[in-house]
Amino acid sequence: AHRRTFTAAEYVEGIVKGDTSILSQAVTLVESSRYEHQAIAQEVIEKCLPHACDSVRVGITGVPGAGKSTSIDAFGLHVLKRGGKLAVLAIDPSSERSKGSILGDKTRMEKLAIHPNAFIRPSPSAGSLGGVARKTRETIVLCEAAGYNNIFVETVGVGQSETAVHSMVDFFLLIQLAGTGDELQGIKRGIMEMADGIVINKADGSNIEKAKLAQAQFRNALHLFPPTPSGWTPQVLTYSGYYEIGIAEVWEMIDNYVAFVKKNGYFDYKRQEQAKYWMFETINEQLRDHFYRNPQIEKMLEEKQARVLNNEQSSFMAAKDVLDYYFNHIK
Ligand code: GDP
Repeated sequence: AHRRTFTAAEYVEGIVKGDTSILSQAVTLVESSRYEHQAIAQEVIEKCLPHACDSVRVGITGVPGAGKSTSIDAFGLHVLKRGGKLAVLAIDPSSERSKGSILGDKTRMEKLAIHPNAFIRPSPSAGSLGGVARKTRETIVLCEAAGYNNIFVETVGVGQSETAVHSMVDFFLLIQLAGTGDELQGIKRGIMEMADGIVINKADGSNIEKAKLAQAQFRNALHLFPPTPSGWTPQVLTYSGYYEIGIAEVWEMIDNYVAFVKKNGYFDYKRQEQAKYWMFETINEQLRDHFYRNPQIEKMLEEKQARVLNNEQSSFMAAKDVLDYYFNHIK
């Protein structure tokens, strides 16, 4: 069916009223790479900013199978019981979607999917990690203007995307499983270092003892880490997303964190740092795009590459030539 398009002011009005259909359409504009869509999307974002509600943004990560969707369903219902609204967004830059489940897919969160106060949106479609993450960051602005005071950003725990999520959330939650033997194996130290809380899922039935053991190991490992910039000591808890055991305790930890960093000023400080980060990220991304998508530059890069590979020119001279051309001849 043909949808009529709205003006930026109409989008903003609909969003601020909490109209989820208009919100969805605005997110689609944010995600579009078409120039005319981007122009209006940027205007909508700008106009939504003053309407942002007081929110708590939580990043949730874990390897596939860790129980992210099951847990988000349970955590989500828990926060919604207290009132307010919840938006579940995702960052999945992988180009081969078919390989795994789609992050933020409604069918993965059965209870939230039918909750009137939950808004679930899958990851922007594959592109550069920076581009996908920026779109999710912008979608947060729209959701907060629509009154979504709880924001979850889900990502798959494979490395780089965690940094992107970390740069847009207040609390970073790492979901782990108790496995066989050395629990800490295979977890990138960097990811653990970012976590404000580590939660060991599937602590149910015969798995409880293993989960407790893993909890002790993670606690020991965290002791060896340098103090966090927030002054908060990351906690390690066990829970079961599926059987809904320990959900309230996980959320109590997040509440405690928020109270702690609001009191010591770190909450606002971090948000300001993130705002700066996204300004520079956007500049970097657009500069890169403008440069690499220019047909003349593309052609020149091909020629230069061949010359470098044939030892006809040094890498540095070739780069300098291309950049000189870009700065002097391209608008
Ligand atoms: P995701 O890939 O991280 O989103 O993981 P899912 O939420 O899809 O869960 C992966 C599998 O683990 C599913 O078969 C779930 O039913 C199961 N699972 C998730 N949470 C729990 C839990 O708390 N306990 C148990 N025993 N199984 C769970």
